[in-house]
Amino acid sequence: MSSKIKILSENLCNQIAAGEVVERPLSVVKELVENSLDAHATEIRIIVEKGGKRLIRVEDNGAGMSREDLFLCLERHATSKIASADDLFCLKTLGFRGEALPSIAAVSRVRLASQQENSAEGFEIHVDAGKVQKASAAGIPAGTVIEVRNLFFNTPARKKFLKTEQTEFSHIADFISKISLSFPQVQISLEHNRRTVINLFRHHSLSDRVVALLGAEIFSQLTSFEKSGLEGLKVHGFLGSPDLNRNSASAIHSFVNRRFVRDRLFQHAVMEGYRNLLPRHRYPVVILFLEIPPDLVDVNVHPAKREVRFRQQGIVHDFIADSIQDALRGRKLSVGESNPAGMGWSFPVSENRKPEAVESGKPYPFVSTKTSRNYSSRVVEELTGFKPVQYPGPSRTSDPETGEAGEISSLLPDDPDFQKRGFFSSLQVIGQYHNSYIICQSREELILIDQHAAHERIGFERLKSQFENGRVEIQELLFPKTMEFGFQDAAALQENLEKLLKLGFGLEPYGGKAFVLRSIPAVLNPDQAEQVLKETLEEIVVLGKSRAMTHEIEKLLITMACHSMVRANQSLSLVEMRSLLQEMDDVDFSTHCPHGRPAVMRLSLHDVEKMFHRP
Ligand code: ADP
Ligand code: MG
Repeated sequence: MSSKIKILSENLCNQIAAGEVVERPLSVVKELVENSLDAHATEIRIIVEKGGKRLIRVEDNGAGMSREDLFLCLERHATSKIASADDLFCLKTLGFRGEALPSIAAVSRVRLASQQENSAEGFEIHVDAGKVQKASAAGIPAGTVIEVRNLFFNTPARKKFLKTEQTEFSHIADFISKISLSFPQVQISLEHNRRTVINLFRHHSLSDRVVALLGAEIFSQLTSFEKSGLEGLKVHGFLGSPDLNRNSASAIHSFVNRRFVRDRLFQHAVMEGYRNLLPRHRYPVVILFLEIPPDLVDVNVHPAKREVRFRQQGIVHDFIADSIQDALRGRKLSVGESNPAGMGWSFPVSENRKPEAVESGKPYPFVSTKTSRNYSSRVVEELTGFKPVQYPGPSRTSDPETGEAGEISSLLPDDPDFQKRGFFSSLQVIGQYHNSYIICQSREELILIDQHAAHERIGFERLKSQFENGRVEIQELLFPKTMEFGFQDAAALQENLEKLLKLGFGLEPYGGKAFVLRSIPAVLNPDQAEQVLKETLEEIVVLGKSRAMTHEIEKLLITMACHSMVRANQSLSLVEMRSLLQEMDDVDFSTHCPHGRPAVMRLSLHDVEKMFHRP
């Protein structure tokens, strides 16, 4: 009987390996750039077309390859970086598996050209879906050029998984910006569709590179830190002010021995380091380099080398968390000092947990200067989390005694006063309670209005109807503002310019990652606009396309609305209270509240009497 089991062909093996190593254009860029860095290049140029789907070209001035190596590097498990299993545990290079080039070549059309310094001539070879098509001498400068065209052209099923050009490119830009932090001395440029997106010269220090990459404004909110621990552990980098917090963990940049990794352990340790300083579900901006003796870490646990495993996970975790905590603690503010010179930032007070010093009865060391962000995220949570207010159906409209006796009921839209002259405008204002609630009475009811919730709802309803009618009311900025964004945000911006314009933000590309902000929604205070735009963008990046569009827009409107609103704890004059009531009528407050919490409560005379046990 013949055997059913077959040894797979070399090419098929490479295609299977490619499934693990080459997931998307980003993977190709990552492997090629890592190779260039391993070859000690000091200049790397990356050229991408159509998000990397059409072309990825990486040029470097590194060590180059001989003619023989040019052929060999395409063989599976061909590497110059390790020779024995022991080498796996004292790695000094980013690559070591010898899988990348054959995997990439198996699913694209590749041209490799290389010239070693001091050799008479260079060589190039062309490979199509893993098969060498031609090889010849080539005149190129010392270094290596690898061109990858038509990724996944021979594996259409995989091609279907690719996202839009912009999305694929934003992953690439994000990776380049991260890896460039790890190699500040290397000149790195990235072009997309013939536009230069990143252009970093050689920098002397990490700080210079951070400024060049993230901008001086963010840099001013970072503080550098460094610590050595047991077992040869060392950590250094930058910690963002807790105020600089983000919606996702994507701004936690972690590196192990200069290798960028996305590792749960790191994220957890960082969050532990920032414990009590961040609002719920917010993440800090952190650049963290861990140096660890190579024999204490295994980098060979993930085909794309994104994750690592430590021999002593707990020790590494605690070392990172403690280092961050110490660094942040060392910079605590003294009482009343909100933003001392040189600090550039202050700690906000987190929502749910009080800073430790408060818990332990020490003087209150944190002064919050910017809580709006915590605040807005909380409002979004609250508004989206609450169930819609249940209005009674038509069957109950004839019954004026709504709600169970003795219970506070939500405001009902079926009150005859609603239809006539505006229910709220017709109320008599008794006063304000606790600078937060407006107390009114109608003919026989006591009405409590949460001024903040009411304002929020007004703003939201107004924005929503403006949005539905085409465009949100805008105000042109007297002084258009140039804003710099991170790569991912800039890509999201570029993709969503129209959507943002509909929301009232008029933005124009200004080259690279810069945009000019010309108009903002009329409801916003120009001072807050930038902040709201950034948050809105974050929402877009995080929510992406995964959620229904309407939900997304609604969330954005809520974010915007809560920035324009009257806060709780604000004393209002009678005129202001009256105008609030008027506005409540104007926006048709009663008819729909997509995820509103009750902004209004009312007690009938009967309810009040019952409270006091009156017959
Ligand atoms: P690995 O990086 O794991 O060794 P690769 O498939 O990525 O495996 O590369 C195979 C080999 O090709 C490398 O070990 C290296 O010797 C050589 N190589 C690849 N890219 C370059 C480059 N840009 N410059 C010099 N040598 C390179
Ligand atoms: Mg490699």
